[in-house]
Amino acid sequence: MTENIDIKNLNIEKASEMLRDGKITSVGLVEACLKNITERNGELNAILEVFSDALENAKKADEMITRGEGDQLTGIPLVIKDNIFITGKKVSASSKILENYVASYDAFVIEKLKKTGAVFIGRANMDEFAMGSSTENSAYGPTKNPFDITRVPGGSSGGSACSVAAGFCLGALGTDTGGSIRQPASFCGLVGMKPTYGGVSRRGTIAMSSSLDQIGPITKTVEDAKIIFNTIVGKDSMDATSIDLNSTGSDITGAKIGIPRDWLKEGIDADIMENFNISVEKLKKLGYEIVDIDLPYAKYSLAVYYILMPAEVSTNLSRLDGIRYGNRVEGENIFDTYKKTRSAGFGPETRRRIILGSYVLSHGYYDAYYNKAWKVRHAIEKEFEDIFKKVDFVLTPTTPSVAFKFGAKKDPLQMYLSDIFTVPANIAGVPSLSVPSGFSSEGLPYGVQFMAPLCADEKLFAISLELEENI
Ligand code: GLN
Repeated sequence: MTENIDIKNLNIEKASEMLRDGKITSVGLVEACLKNITERNGELNAILEVFSDALENAKKADEMITRGEGDQLTGIPLVIKDNIFITGKKVSASSKILENYVASYDAFVIEKLKKTGAVFIGRANMDEFAMGSSTENSAYGPTKNPFDITRVPGGSSGGSACSVAAGFCLGALGTDTGGSIRQPASFCGLVGMKPTYGGVSRRGTIAMSSSLDQIGPITKTVEDAKIIFNTIVGKDSMDATSIDLNSTGSDITGAKIGIPRDWLKEGIDADIMENFNISVEKLKKLGYEIVDIDLPYAKYSLAVYYILMPAEVSTNLSRLDGIRYGNRVEGENIFDTYKKTRSAGFGPETRRRIILGSYVLSHGYYDAYYNKAWKVRHAIEKEFEDIFKKVDFVLTPTTPSVAFKFGAKKDPLQMYLSDIFTVPANIAGVPSLSVPSGFSSEGLPYGVQFMAPLCADEKLFAISLELEENI
């Protein structure tokens, strides 16, 4: 039965139907995924660890299905980013400092997925502590793009995206602080969704930048992303920033779509613009009104991001000092231990951001940088609130280029610019989804990104589905 399951061309929705109809089993699905991993993970380096209990859990899921229990995710093999806690499993955030760290509890999202009987196949490679856009910052080597192994899969959730595209699983969880779900999804021809901030609990995720981080799905289709989202969404009394997503419904009849033209003037490849314009035309043909909009403050999102994010990173990572969590390098005294542990444990990008964050938070610079950035953040939030009184969605390309070559963005500022379109949604807290929009002449995937008002996650799925069906 295993040989017949073509994971690469199967989605969650279909697999779930086949499971219910008794055409396949979860064990069969998991075996097919494991076979693909054995064949290709050596080359792609998407999965850091295959979970030894995957088959056992698949068996349990099959029993649930036989008893008529569970839902669409029961028995579905998923890959989990290496910064989300699963009790008893290693979780390293792809850092040396947490190399053998074992999670002592389940993340909120994992609790929910376990309840449905979803099967975790393994943990996915990522940029260290989710900082990066290429997975080149992993302490365990980069992940490769399954469409072209000389290119990056995107990041920081590059391992998650690669796993879905390469048929190592049917769906994956990523985290998105400035685009880390949407950008790798776009580079690997997949759907990636960042929920409204607070809609999905962050409990049990290794925090990067707490006011921006969100967990979300990476899948082959919009419907699949919706299935995972519907399972992991919900208020959590143990995450103070968690909210009840009072859904605004899914009716998008007569929706108006805004395009921030002045974001699209420079630093964007011609073929991306061409592909973007095709998607716009399709939406027009489907009857949606397309209007040009102005978002002058949002242009500063990246500048704001690279002040607020490192400030929160430096604070969040200060707990990794060799005393309470993770690995320790013994020094001559406690300060020496801190220094040696952190120097040995953190990679260069992590150190850069800790230094940057400590600087913007330091006495004398706090007002000039950190406080100022918060003010601009509020202006950006307000700007989105206002624009969503005029339009229902904002549409942009997901990235300014297709997946780039390894080593192409050695200058950190060049790397940071790859998030130019994704970061604003995190700054404003609004939900955003990247949907595949075709392929380049070299066979590399394109993606476009919708942003929707706070709590309009359902509408976001609805409009993305419209485009997906008509690509
Ligand atoms: N690429 C961005 C960064 O390096 C975003 C990361 C993320 O979303 N986790 O910070």
